[in-house]
Amino acid sequence: MDRSKPNNNDNNIIEVKNNILEEGIECFTHWLSAEEGNSEKNSYIQLTLKIFEKDNRILIHDYFQNIDIEVKFDNGVPVCTLCKTAECAHAEFAICTEQNLSSSL
Ligand SMILES: [Zn+2]
Repeated sequence: MDRSKPNNNDNNIIEVKNNILEEGIECFTHWLSAEEGNSEKNSYIQLTLKIFEKDNRILIHDYFQNIDIEVKFDNGVPVCTLCKTAECAHAEFAICTEQNLSSSL
């Protein structure tokens, strides 16, 4: 797996396939860059942030499945209410949110 190479395809789809931590990081990175206006227009991101309540919970929207996914923080540990684990793409997305948005709020 080569994750260091930027993907410049016209159909740059950021998709959660395996529901692993790395996909959560990738989705968050692209979502953040889109929020900041840096993302290519033709880039599709599966997961976006809907609600962020620091140290409490976040709500992620899954555009491909058209569902909302809630991740709750339990003593700083995010637990995904959909997957019932702390080791899925959504939980990692929550960790990235905490790390990147907490300081800027
Ligand atoms: Zn999950």
